[in-house]
Amino acid sequence: MSFSGKCNIGFLWSELLESFDFGSKHPIQIGRFRMLRDFIRENGFLDCPNVQIINPELLSEELLKKTHSAEYIAKIQNISETGVGDIDIDTPGFKNIYFHSRIASGASVTGVHSVMSGDIDHFISPTGGFHHASFEKGGGFCIINDVAASVLALKEYGLKRILVADFDVHHGNGTQTYFYDDPDVMQISFHEDPEWMFPHDGLIHDIGSGAGRGYNINMHFPMDAGDSVYQYAYDELVPKLVNFYKPDFIIFIPGFDAHYLDRLAHLTITTDMIRYISESIHKAAHRHSDGRMGVLTGGGYTRTSLKWGFATVMSVLADHPYQPPVQEPPFEDDEETWNVVRSNVSKVKDLVFSELGI
Ligand SMILES: [Zn+2]
Ligand SMILES: [Zn+2]
Repeated sequence: MSFSGKCNIGFLWSELLESFDFGSKHPIQIGRFRMLRDFIRENGFLDCPNVQIINPELLSEELLKKTHSAEYIAKIQNISETGVGDIDIDTPGFKNIYFHSRIASGASVTGVHSVMSGDIDHFISPTGGFHHASFEKGGGFCIINDVAASVLALKEYGLKRILVADFDVHHGNGTQTYFYDDPDVMQISFHEDPEWMFPHDGLIHDIGSGAGRGYNINMHFPMDAGDSVYQYAYDELVPKLVNFYKPDFIIFIPGFDAHYLDRLAHLTITTDMIRYISESIHKAAHRHSDGRMGVLTGGGYTRTSLKWGFATVMSVLADHPYQPPVQEPPFEDDEETWNVVRSNVSKVKDLVFSELGI
């Protein structure tokens, strides 16, 4: 905490975050991170005495080797040198992709070290949340899984209960593969129904295996689901899980691409919900984790909702006022949506709460 009683926030930023090139038609465009930096600067966040800019460091080769297979790292390096080849169909390769992916994922791990050293209470990165990459391969816009790398870095500090709270609209399928049998990591993923939504994974009955059974929680939502049902599911599930687990570090991925203006998916939440969840997770970090938490941006492919969402989370963490414009989603949650969500919530409880004894 700072002298003002406000939390100390580290904002990860460097021009080097813009060192990528997925092509002119890709949903992730150059200027995305600069736009977020400019927006929070315009809204006074960078003048707050409790907000500091932290320079991201490259992900170390040692941690990279723990996060990905030698074959996959060699593939990234090869694409990086030649500029030829792709990570997958959605994730084009480019020259210097090795450097870029290490700085983008290194930002998250730099944030972890800054929190663990006590310099700051929370970090927030305008990039990161590359949750579709697994040990052996990348994909879905993700090259290096910085969520997994951050967890592995936290384990080196001896932490035993790391919570990954992933509200990106797409399932965190890559991260799930790393820690599926590991009770030292709880992953909660809220996402759109995998039946039609990439990555077509993250079913409710996938609750972890072995000692990790019950520590992998998937909750999915039907198309058009908005704030009312989303809040219902959150209230029914997340506080109970978090209070049971008592995490000693929280990695939070907000659902910027679950916003109704985001056209890569079909949920219809607003920044009211992003604020609600951010406040709840922030309080949980102070209740259980001595404040230790990091925010990885995750998806968000419409600039307006992405910057509103980002500033909303900043506002909660830094205790600095920010109010996005009034938002009017195209739908209200109807009876059919409510029925599906109630049924899904009850399935999650039946499977997970009974396994954990909640
Ligand atoms: Zn705080
Ligand atoms: Zn996403």
